[in-house]
Amino acid sequence: MNEKTLHLVSLGCTKNLVDSEVMLGRLSDYKIVDTPEGADVIIVNTCGFIDAAKEESINTILNLHEERKEDSLLVMSGCLSERYKSDLQKELKEVDIFTGVGDYDKIDELIELKKSNYSSEVFLADETNERVITGSNYHAYIKIAEGCNQACSFCAIPHFKGKLHSRTLSSVVKEIASLVDRGFWDFSFVSQDSSSYGMDMGLKDGLVDLIDAVEKIEGVKSARILYLYPSTTTFELIDKIAESKVFQTYYDMPIQHCDDDMLRTMKRGFGEVKTKELLDHMKSKEDAFIRTTFIAGHPGESEESFKELCEFTKEFVFDRVNVFSYSNEEETSAFDMEQIPQKIIDKRAKMLGDIVNETTLTSLSKMVGKDIDIVIDNVSEEHEYLLSARPLSWAVEVDGELLVNDTSDLTIEFGKVYKAKITELAGSQLLATLVEKYEPII
Ligand code: SF4
Repeated sequence: MNEKTLHLVSLGCTKNLVDSEVMLGRLSDYKIVDTPEGADVIIVNTCGFIDAAKEESINTILNLHEERKEDSLLVMSGCLSERYKSDLQKELKEVDIFTGVGDYDKIDELIELKKSNYSSEVFLADETNERVITGSNYHAYIKIAEGCNQACSFCAIPHFKGKLHSRTLSSVVKEIASLVDRGFWDFSFVSQDSSSYGMDMGLKDGLVDLIDAVEKIEGVKSARILYLYPSTTTFELIDKIAESKVFQTYYDMPIQHCDDDMLRTMKRGFGEVKTKELLDHMKSKEDAFIRTTFIAGHPGESEESFKELCEFTKEFVFDRVNVFSYSNEEETSAFDMEQIPQKIIDKRAKMLGDIVNETTLTSLSKMVGKDIDIVIDNVSEEHEYLLSARPLSWAVEVDGELLVNDTSDLTIEFGKVYKAKITELAGSQLLATLVEKYEPII
């Protein structure tokens, strides 16, 4: 009996990736293949956040349909499939099985029965879901909640992911402990709005409790929290993260804009003053790494407020910034507002992007000469004599890599921690020399 083969494409965010890993766990009797041609089953876990992501999801489905073998099954899951379930089932004849964001732990049954299904409940993985962790043998994403109680004017996520639904602390702790047993030691905590973690369970500052609990788990050497939300991020939390021996002084807080009127129009809960107070408090922390996200061209954004955003970005110098062009999404409060012409949206996104490229270089140049903790991931794709590594203070993939061009003749083990000296910024690439291999003492 030939081994069944599976090709899975996970699009969108790290939360979607966790759900894809749950599906891989349910389909562990399949051999995972990197190409679609010979696969018996092809799954695309889609993203439906903004136009660009929706387009990528549809194109991925259509391309895989072209490449698939005759009797294979093509499965569409995830946010785009959930958001437009009835239209897609009518129009996308290429797909054999449709499912949304509620059946990840039943994917094996749907494939067995060749049946589409959309559960009304939004699925949230917990410690009982055996995941196949992808992309690393030491780092894993931990999804701590699903859904969102915020009402940002541009975002449709609450419409298809529902209200905030947090995992219990004990469930999170159990999952991490079992991953530590499997050799994992670096964790990134994700959700739609992480700083609201536990509010639906009556926790006041759930992340502070989570940090306390995670710090007690033996074997956890490093961690960070992604997706903080301004109006639910407290000074206590910022201090707690900075004081932690396990959590990196890493602050990922999308603010989307900095102008008071725009923040009000975007329904972001916090205005300019409070948002900047939070950021300044983060910046006051030693070795703080601050990442954010901006939207360019949201309805109501005047030339003045855009200029203000550009000036603020130049002055504050975030370590990393994601710039999004505004995407007009149905079921959002901005949908019926007077829209800014696409040409101006794109021009503003480009201008802001250019500023961000400069501030990112400034952030990188500040690291030259420093001794830092890094983890070596593998041989660099750029050159066989270079090693691809990541400072432990950075998040996986999104913050980039640094290249080790001098190993000081140390024995190299992938997935292990080394002390390294940053020697140079070559273009936008940091270069480093290894100093010593060592086990972080927690
Ligand atoms: S916090 Fe705002 S942008 Fe993020 S998922 Fe919730 S509504 Fe959307």
